[in-house]
Amino acid sequence: MSKDSTHQAYVTAITRLMSAIFRKTDDASFIVEQLENIKDPAMTNSYWAGKNLPSIPAGIALILDYHLSREKETSKYNHMDLCEECNNHTVIKDGNCTACLSCGFSKCNK
Ligand SMILES: [Zn+2]
Repeated sequence: MSKDSTHQAYVTAITRLMSAIFRKTDDASFIVEQLENIKDPAMTNSYWAGKNLPSIPAGIALILDYHLSREKETSKYNHMDLCEECNNHTVIKDGNCTACLSCGFSKCNK
């Protein structure tokens, strides 16, 4: 499609603005709200990951939302214990034992 190259400049502009925002703030989830409802009349039958895609910016919002929700899951690691071996906060408890997700160091209380 020749339309793709026209879109490319705008997509580049949006992604550059987004990375500029990411450098300024810890919570960029408002970008998803701003972009997800944008409708492009030329895009009537577009789908991404089973969801209707009303526009390219809405597609960017879907991808961003996916990454942000994954980030929230990994941020749970911030509340884990400190590993005495590698100094990462990636120690999980498993019964009487602990295991580090980063280096594999494990210790059991008897
Ligand atoms: Zn470790």
